[in-house]
Amino acid sequence: MEERYEAELTRSAAVLDGVDRALRRLSDGTYGSCEACGAPILDADLEADPVRRMCEQHLSLG
Ligand SMILES: [Zn+2]
Repeated sequence: MEERYEAELTRSAAVLDGVDRALRRLSDGTYGSCEACGAPILDADLEADPVRRMCEQHLSLG
């Protein structure tokens, strides 16, 4: 039971971290750009995943 909660909380913390980073990127103007190469991330991709940080290419590289 506790392990289940722990996994849940870890996931939530990761989501919050993503949101926090996205907000910071919005304020410094890098939101919507790949963190690895600076290429623009497609609007459709950002709609599907607003905290996305990588372009298609780097996302698939992991
Ligand atoms: Zn990239």
